[in-house]
Amino acid sequence: MSEKSNATDKKLKQAIDARMAVEDARKYQVDTLTNFSAKLSLSCKGLDTELDNRLAKFRNALTKGVSFEHLSPLIDETIVLLKNQESVQLAQQRDLYTSVLNAGKQLQKTKGLPDDTRRTLRHLLDHDINNVHSTHDFIPLLDKLVSFYHQALNTKLTGTSSEQCDATPELAKKLLELANDLMLEDEAAEEVKYIKNNITENDKLDALLKAAINIISVVVKNITKERQSAQSFLASLNQTLEDLHHSIVSTSKHSKSMGVEFDSLNKSIESKIKNLNIQTQNATSISSLKELVDNELKSLSQDFIAKEKLEREDRETLISSFDQINSRIGSLESKLTKYKKRLNEQRFKSLLDSLTKLPNRAAFDERYNHEVHLFNVQTSDVTLAVIDVDHFKSINDRFGHTAGDITLQVIAKALLKSIRKSDFIARYGGEEFVLLMPNTTIDSAAAPLEKLRKVIKSIPFKFRDKQIEITISLGATQFKKGDTPIIAFDRADDALYEAKNTGRDRLCISK
Ligand code: GH3
Ligand code: MG
Ligand code: MG
Repeated sequence: MSEKSNATDKKLKQAIDARMAVEDARKYQVDTLTNFSAKLSLSCKGLDTELDNRLAKFRNALTKGVSFEHLSPLIDETIVLLKNQESVQLAQQRDLYTSVLNAGKQLQKTKGLPDDTRRTLRHLLDHDINNVHSTHDFIPLLDKLVSFYHQALNTKLTGTSSEQCDATPELAKKLLELANDLMLEDEAAEEVKYIKNNITENDKLDALLKAAINIISVVVKNITKERQSAQSFLASLNQTLEDLHHSIVSTSKHSKSMGVEFDSLNKSIESKIKNLNIQTQNATSISSLKELVDNELKSLSQDFIAKEKLEREDRETLISSFDQINSRIGSLESKLTKYKKRLNEQRFKSLLDSLTKLPNRAAFDERYNHEVHLFNVQTSDVTLAVIDVDHFKSINDRFGHTAGDITLQVIAKALLKSIRKSDFIARYGGEEFVLLMPNTTIDSAAAPLEKLRKVIKSIPFKFRDKQIEITISLGATQFKKGDTPIIAFDRADDALYEAKNTGRDRLCISK
């Protein structure tokens, strides 16, 4: 081959290569465009038929290899249609926004919706919904709304919301206070202790309902027992009265029949004496007189013996019947004494808190009202302090209700030991105590109250080998002229509230 033709061949080859490179690049571009338009039509499918058709045409043109001059008007038309689509979508989005908002607001009005659902719903309507930028963003919101509707519907159908199955600490607290106020003994007290334990361990509504029913049944059992004991006392009282009546009737009957015998004996004695009198007057000789007197006296003495016997018998029956009556009355009296003692004990107990043995709320109310009344008539200085154990719930939660009970007993004992003789302390309820300090101004009360706080703080509590420090918060106030019991108490309570809110383990005073 010549050199020239070689060079031509080379050029030709270069031209062919260059052409192929161009073809390849074009093919790559067409493929990319085809791909893109396929994806575009897929994601826009169904939005607008006009747009669908236009995109199909565009893809067709690309596969046929139509030149870009022909493609460009198609692209322009598609762009216009896409723009239209955008405004259509914006309008749809606005509609969707309004209808989701309306649906949500409607749902907010539904009763029985669980608290956390209501909170999320409020957040959704106030906040989430404003961050929606596309129809797509609505999907999670709609999803949530549907699930809320589902819950609301469930509430309506079953009459129970899931909220009711949630923990109800307020109810548990009330139920515990109620259980604390029960003055029961022995077995019943043990049962109540067990129920109290359950309440602290589980404050779900159904568990509390069960606990409430158990408390009621213990109370009913106790009332029945009390009633039975009262009934048996009344029955024995009745029996004794009946016996007494019986015995009095039979004694009087006996006395009546004795009376008849007495009468006839007296009459016989009387007639014998009369007879003796007549015969003595008629007697003609001493010896006949003597004989006569002798005989009459014999018969008279027999009558007297019979009379004496009768009298003795009468006395004996009377004495034995009185003895019987006496012993019956005696046994009745001892029963009555026992019953009175029991009633007294119960009254005393009803003023005493069964756990801490401190005076209870009823006892405090009685004393407190009296002190307020006294203060208003003779104006002496009286300070009232309300004391609350800090974070007591956590003692129960961490170490159990029994540990909590023992803690309360230890605290009560320490408080009682640390106050003055003239002070009056009571367990007001739960882990709250109240202290009345007669003849004490608030200024002079501060030091002893601070001392109380330190005493409790320094008790070396130990649970499960853990050293625990327990503190109290105190709120105190002095009675003021015109105070009602409620006003003074509220002032002390406000001070306690302040102590709690400013870090606990402190005394706050409200003047
Ligand atoms: P704060 O410092 O705010 O007073 O917190 P706290 O936990 O002490 O107060 P809260 O009122 O939340 O809880 C009091 C707890 O006391 C709730 C209840 O379980 C418990 N409690 C009330 N009475 C008794 C009782 O007789 N025995 C026991 N073990 N716990 C009781
Ligand atoms: Mg409390
Ligand atoms: Mg407390």
